[in-house]
Amino acid sequence: SQRFATPLAEVSNIIDQYENAKASSERVFGLMDIPVEVDDPEDGTELTDAEGNVVYDDVTFAYDDSETVIDGVSFEAKPGETVALVGPTGAGKSTMLKLLLRMYDVTDGEVRVDDHDIRDVTLESLRSHVGYVGQETFLFDGTIADNIRYGDFDASDRQVREAARAAEADEFIRSFPDGYDTRVGERGVKLSGGQRQRIAIARVVLHDPELLVLDEATSAVDTETEYLIQKSLDSLSADRTTFAIAHRLSTVKGADEILVMEDGEVTERGDHGTLLSEGGLYADLWSVQAGDLESLPEDFESRVID
Ligand code: ADP
Repeated sequence: SQRFATPLAEVSNIIDQYENAKASSERVFGLMDIPVEVDDPEDGTELTDAEGNVVYDDVTFAYDDSETVIDGVSFEAKPGETVALVGPTGAGKSTMLKLLLRMYDVTDGEVRVDDHDIRDVTLESLRSHVGYVGQETFLFDGTIADNIRYGDFDASDRQVREAARAAEADEFIRSFPDGYDTRVGERGVKLSGGQRQRIAIARVVLHDPELLVLDEATSAVDTETEYLIQKSLDSLSADRTTFAIAHRLSTVKGADEILVMEDGEVTERGDHGTLLSEGGLYADLWSVQAGDLESLPEDFESRVID
């Protein structure tokens, strides 16, 4: 089956659709820049049946000569684990995710997936194993079903509905008079941010990748929507290796490893309990939040900056 739900596949698709590739890729990624060219190895290994083991081995990265943005970061995520990246704006969290997607290549060190240096793997096969849910969801002109089926063009109507159910999207979709045949995109109904995000999650459910990259939204949604999104993201990440720029309480608390990043370095690491007991920056943040833990996900970053 053809699977194109990966972010980079989305970008190339969008480049086909629109002249302004830069603006469009921002819509997909919510990132500041479009992917630069990296070398797709000619005799690259096909990453088949990935298990989802990911290693960052002494990774250093600079966008240009002047400034090191990631400075000697090492960690391992075993298949199925969740790694949460927290820390102030500019610390290097989204850069870390971009390196896994090979939007950029490391300056030094290695990123490995299942023991392959990702530079030795074909881009297509690497990206076919990665699902992405970001702050912005690209919807193209078409029906809601078409947009979900973007995760797997061979999916049956029933599979599309099941994916939507898993993404807590089925109910709002069925509330439209045309249900799954409702047109969205430039000429269709406007969906809210929370609804768009659940479409993105449904895509990833269909795509069923071993690796998941989450750039969790900070945008204000109502409590009910927040709860539904949280629930669907939790089940999505449960059995696949997940990297999350984490704002949600459940992601941070439940992560197998939390990497606290500051200025390109990992300054604290461990699970929630370990970091609390170490009494560092992470613990400070939590004590500030004591009695008001629910508000951590939304303003975590701004607290760190201040
Ligand atoms: P975070 O996700 O933690 O906010 P980023 O990974 O976005 O941090 O940014 C880390 C650093 O890299 C910042 O200093 C940022 O200004 C810089 N940076 C991000 N993207 C680019 C880019 N495309 N070119 C040059 N510098 C960049």
